[in-house]
Amino acid sequence: MFKDKPTLKQVVGSYAFGRRFEYRVSCSSNTQFTSQCSQRSCGWVLRTWKSNRGTYWHVKAFVNEHTCERNDNYNVEFKCVSTTVIGDLFASKYCDPGRIIRHKDIISEMREQHGIHLLYNKTYRSKEHALNQVFGGPWESLQRLPSYFYVLEQGNPGIVTKIKIDSENRFKYGIIASSNLLLGWLSASMLPI
Ligand SMILES: [Zn+2]
Repeated sequence: MFKDKPTLKQVVGSYAFGRRFEYRVSCSSNTQFTSQCSQRSCGWVLRTWKSNRGTYWHVKAFVNEHTCERNDNYNVEFKCVSTTVIGDLFASKYCDPGRIIRHKDIISEMREQHGIHLLYNKTYRSKEHALNQVFGGPWESLQRLPSYFYVLEQGNPGIVTKIKIDSENRFKYGIIASSNLLLGWLSASMLPI
């Protein structure tokens, strides 16, 4: 049983990715969702239906056996791997404030470890999802920023952070820099004109 349709789709995506096969959604409505192996001759299928009460989705049928040639099914393009599946893979890595993960890091890791070639746009959206998983949405992230900056400074001697708010206590910007650089910048910005 799945708590809602987004969760169901997420689980199917992660499951297929983890087992290295591509799937297609053959039916998706308000009451039914069916996914099948992308190889049309294959018997792998998951049929689900929505509960009459609540948002829950139930498994109606699950044939977890491939009759296709799995090697033929594996596609390095892996188009059906969603940004949420990729984002979930990287979310735990963003929990470490001392670690910086750039777009090109995601691209190279997906290529080297999973044989998947990501385009920048998909990488960007995957990273956004990963950050949302860890820090919540933009508003929630801003609320966590002071504690995040604090942990960052504690774990990285030489790094200083600063949060600037306006006269109405609204966030303007945040800075992460080496202590020398930031102190120099602040000194320069406070010079009388
Ligand atoms: Zn199959």
